[in-house]
Amino acid sequence: MKSKVKYVSKKRLYPAFGEAHIGKKVVYVRKDLPKIVKKFVKEHELYHLKDKSKVIFWREIKANFYGLFKRPLGFLLCLIMSLAPSRLKFYFNRIVGKE
Ligand SMILES: [Zn+2]
Repeated sequence: MKSKVKYVSKKRLYPAFGEAHIGKKVVYVRKDLPKIVKKFVKEHELYHLKDKSKVIFWREIKANFYGLFKRPLGFLLCLIMSLAPSRLKFYFNRIVGKE
């Protein structure tokens, strides 16, 4: 059975960027994400479908490395987007010495 990729609304998956349904062989990717992030999330979720590991921690590490290898820029942007804006502001202010 071939894996399917479905692009869905932000509301459907928020706060996640994607989701893998192993039984159905379907991955869901949020369509509101930037193009390169969507490509990374797609690779990440598709990896979950073929991964036999049962340990959540390893599943995520492996899927992230696979996505990083396939879509390095998408991985980076995904990482940046995973940080809340309030935290980015906090770091920014620290770096420029405002606080
Ligand atoms: Zn994952």
